[in-house]
Amino acid sequence: MSSLSWTTYQERLRDERLVLFLPCGALEQHGPHLPLGTDTLLSMAIAQSVAEQVNGLVAPVINYGYKSQPKSGGGQYFPGTTSLDGQSLSHITRDVIREFARHGVKHLVVVDGHYENQWFLTEGIDLALREIGPSSRLRIMRLEYWDFCTEETLSRVFPDGFPGFALEHAAVIETSLMLHYYPNLVHLDRIPVDDAAVFPPYDLYPPCIHWVPSSGVLSSAKAASAEKGAVIAQQVTESIAKAVVHEFMSEKLNDGG
Ligand code: ZN
Ligand code: MN
Repeated sequence: MSSLSWTTYQERLRDERLVLFLPCGALEQHGPHLPLGTDTLLSMAIAQSVAEQVNGLVAPVINYGYKSQPKSGGGQYFPGTTSLDGQSLSHITRDVIREFARHGVKHLVVVDGHYENQWFLTEGIDLALREIGPSSRLRIMRLEYWDFCTEETLSRVFPDGFPGFALEHAAVIETSLMLHYYPNLVHLDRIPVDDAAVFPPYDLYPPCIHWVPSSGVLSSAKAASAEKGAVIAQQVTESIAKAVVHEFMSEKLNDGG
């Protein structure tokens, strides 16, 4: 979207079926081997891959996210992790959606690449829809891309058993996807050898820094590979594209559904 002129953008919007994608990431430590922008870069890459499959358009990414939590992103103690208050993220989301609605966008997909964002994106979507009112034809899908991984993909990527998404921060899935989309930004020789983190079933405030491995990686990324990244990227983007077509482009829309 940012590389189009306003007139070209307006022409693209004349197609009633145009789908706009809003990637949302974070600036957050991802271990010594992945860049701070990992969640931003992956949400952009996945949004772009899906957009290509449905002739969609990608809006500029929201590249700061909600505060990193110890049990999902290592927490706020690491240099580089740079986060927004929840209300700020909700308001940024609300503001850009209100603008998209004003342009006449009818289909928006919010592609989240940072776990901690999800309820603040949800809040921003709700505030925007409340503000633009029920007469608007804007419909919005919000998703976390990893939720689209099928059992089959997980068993191919984790032949010894999937440890669960909770410990996947800077681990096999993100490292493999980064090797697939941005191989030059990954430092395989710096993957740490820490044991997987073990967390109690509660949180503490202020957070307990010793819960988190000092590398910031929550489980080993040693088994990551570009081939696994390609498997995940292909299956996930195809599944997201299928959901977008199902919700936004199937015949039921023609009768105002
Ligand atoms: Zn991440
Ligand atoms: Mn994250």
